[in-house]
Amino acid sequence: MTKRLVFLGPPGAGKGTIANRIAAKFNLPHISTGDLLRKEVAAETEVGKKAKGEMLRGELVNDELVTAVLRKRLSQGDAAKGFILDGYPRTMKQVELLENALKEIGEKLDVVLHIDASQKTIIKRLSNRRQCKRCGKLYNLVSLPPKNKGRCDVCQGELFQRKDDEQEAIKKRLQAYGQRTKPIISYYKEKGLLREVDCNGEIEENLLNAEEALKGI
Ligand code: ADP
Ligand code: ZN
Repeated sequence: MTKRLVFLGPPGAGKGTIANRIAAKFNLPHISTGDLLRKEVAAETEVGKKAKGEMLRGELVNDELVTAVLRKRLSQGDAAKGFILDGYPRTMKQVELLENALKEIGEKLDVVLHIDASQKTIIKRLSNRRQCKRCGKLYNLVSLPPKNKGRCDVCQGELFQRKDDEQEAIKKRLQAYGQRTKPIISYYKEKGLLREVDCNGEIEENLLNAEEALKGI
């Protein structure tokens, strides 16, 4: 069966981690617009140059720009069988652009999973998040610390803090979420696509809850 899923929720709710695991379980590509954009920035492409400033400040990237990046990814063969979108759509305009893109291939979304966590949980998670420079693996200084301080368990790469995980940028990201992304939740709810999962707990518990919420798809 083809599955087209969207994972929606505030930064730090655990969207990425959960999307990763569920994608492996259902054998679907995990498509994160944040990751796609970071790749463009790292490769210093035209798109990357345009997106960089907003990303560093924790602001949203232009709707058309991020949609172009997403469309390119969706046109790759593996996305034909379905996908999990992580971090897209984030504005009502993106909701519309995504609907158009899917309409062109005679498709629509199957489920939107709202992954939620409290402001307190979010700030704690994001400010303690570290990432391996070399392989990208994520750590948390409190809940998932590396064995050796500042070093990746897998590849010994150096751990760093994302610029947009610093205090000021976290505030901006939460603001953008409240103003631009929250309205999307009511929209999908009215369409009957929404399912919800509380992710204030530990990773494994949240994952089980997410699987439960997706039962029957
Ligand atoms: P988070 O959800 O934790 O904020 P992401 O890795 O999903 O982090 O995104 C990082 C940054 O990339 C965002 O702060 C934003 O600047 C940009 N971005 C990612 N997805 C989108 C999107 N759908 N629309 C606009 N900007 C986006
Ligand atoms: Zn590593």
